[in-house]
Amino acid sequence: MVIKDAEFGEVLVRKNALSKGVRFSVSTSGRLQMSVPKHMPDFMIKRVLTNNRKMIREKLPLKNPKEQKARDYQKKLLMKKAREYLPYRLEYLAKLHGYSYNKCRLSHANTRWGSCSSNRTISLNIGLMKVPEVLRDYVIIHELAHLNHMDHSKAFWAEVGSHDPRYKTHEKKLKYFSPGL
Ligand SMILES: [Zn+2]
Repeated sequence: MVIKDAEFGEVLVRKNALSKGVRFSVSTSGRLQMSVPKHMPDFMIKRVLTNNRKMIREKLPLKNPKEQKARDYQKKLLMKKAREYLPYRLEYLAKLHGYSYNKCRLSHANTRWGSCSSNRTISLNIGLMKVPEVLRDYVIIHELAHLNHMDHSKAFWAEVGSHDPRYKTHEKKLKYFSPGL
């Protein structure tokens, strides 16, 4: 359910059978998100929201509500670009360096550029489409190397370094960018 709020814009309400109280958080799109008990009536949800305005304003890093629609649109464009590029770049670099993975997933988390799971699925953040190509490739190589080393051990970094000798610089430069919108 979505509440339209004059101050916070669209507020995402998740009804949860297990939750006893109301919990506030920030969605990946920067909107306010409320997790509420399943049978809480709408007027109560709105009342809790009103009673917590000050706390929300002060504590939660919400993004400008006036730009919610613009960010949704940006995200759609980024997803389209990513879909047409990242799976193919991953495939190319995997072949080039002799890796085999299971699946490529596109994600849009706010904090991680990529991940590699034990079932050999590699997730790449669509925000990679906003960073220079060398950094994008570095992230892909980093995740590919996790296929052989599920940690950040010396052996892991040696493997990354064998494909990307400037990986230390690339890791540092990546910190100037953020995967979110
Ligand atoms: Zn890693």
